[in-house]
Amino acid sequence: MEIEKVKCLIIGSGPAGYTAAIYAGRANLNPVLYEGLQPGGQLTTTTDVENFPGYPEGISGPQLMEDLRSQAVRFGADVRFGVATASDLSKAPYKVTIDEEKVIETDTLIISTGATAKYLGLDDEKKYAGMGVSACATCDGFFYRKKVVAVVGGGDTACEEAIYLAGLASKVYLIVRKPYLRASKIMQERVMAHEKIEILFEHNAVGLFGDGGVEGVKLVKRLGESDEERYELPIDGFFLAIGHKPNSDIFKQYLDTDEVGYILTEGNTPRTKVPGVFAAGDVADSHYRQAITAAGSGCKAAIEAERYLSEKGLL
Ligand code: NDP
Repeated sequence: MEIEKVKCLIIGSGPAGYTAAIYAGRANLNPVLYEGLQPGGQLTTTTDVENFPGYPEGISGPQLMEDLRSQAVRFGADVRFGVATASDLSKAPYKVTIDEEKVIETDTLIISTGATAKYLGLDDEKKYAGMGVSACATCDGFFYRKKVVAVVGGGDTACEEAIYLAGLASKVYLIVRKPYLRASKIMQERVMAHEKIEILFEHNAVGLFGDGGVEGVKLVKRLGESDEERYELPIDGFFLAIGHKPNSDIFKQYLDTDEVGYILTEGNTPRTKVPGVFAAGDVADSHYRQAITAAGSGCKAAIEAERYLSEKGLL
């Protein structure tokens, strides 16, 4: 297999990866960045981004990512198509296999592979992507001011998103498949006490409908039971909050992760337990999951990489 040696390898092309590439490029680390399966990351699936500082009029998600990419390239980052398919972090230099056909040996590795929101798997979720279906209330909630929305899920994320949306929308339905919520007690209490939130227990969403955008959700109450009931509920927005999957599988064996797979880092830094290997963005953040926090951690990771290389005399 072809082997290439680099000083700084960045895996992932969301805000964390590109920001790491901008900083690493400006520090003369000659970073190589592989974009992964979804170049530009999760933001390429959203419409307008209005909460990224510096864009008073907002910016489209794909445009923001294109701008970040250009900025990284301008400072010398070698941005490539390719998916990391395996890793060996047992000793330095670390090895990452790309597309099962090439091995990159690197002194420092920045893992910014992100997390993937889980979807129900309905065809309609794809059909209405960016047209009423979202997996991020903080990103898209603003577009549903004074409108009616539904949130699917019964965990802390779903409750948090429902409460966030209730501050904007006129009505929020929480679609929960079980007869109870899985969320923490305090979140359950907040959701139940909120006058704008109505919880639909023992409900499953099985489809969406609407011309050119979501106009309603097809629901089944007590699916599979003798008293099963099917009906349609008019809504303007459909939010998924059934969990995220961090894209850490190929690195997990060498790093500490939590039970879901989020990479654990040292305190408030992107340092993992392997020296010279850093994790930035959503792959190491189950809590904030914002473009700006991901960008911030990408910046930190590049600074850490530069210091590591300098201390080891590898610059
Ligand atoms: P969880 O795994 O806790 O909850 C997922 C929810 O989605 C569950 O109610 C689950 O239902 C439901 N669900 C999963 N798949 C489907 C499906 N196919 N159809 C319908 N419903 C489905 O994920 P969260 O993202 O809510 O939380 C992840 C972790 O992050 C948790 O540990 C949580 O406590 C933590 N967190 C903490 C926050 C805080 O402290 N402020 C905020 C957000 C998250 P079921 O119960 O039936 O399995």
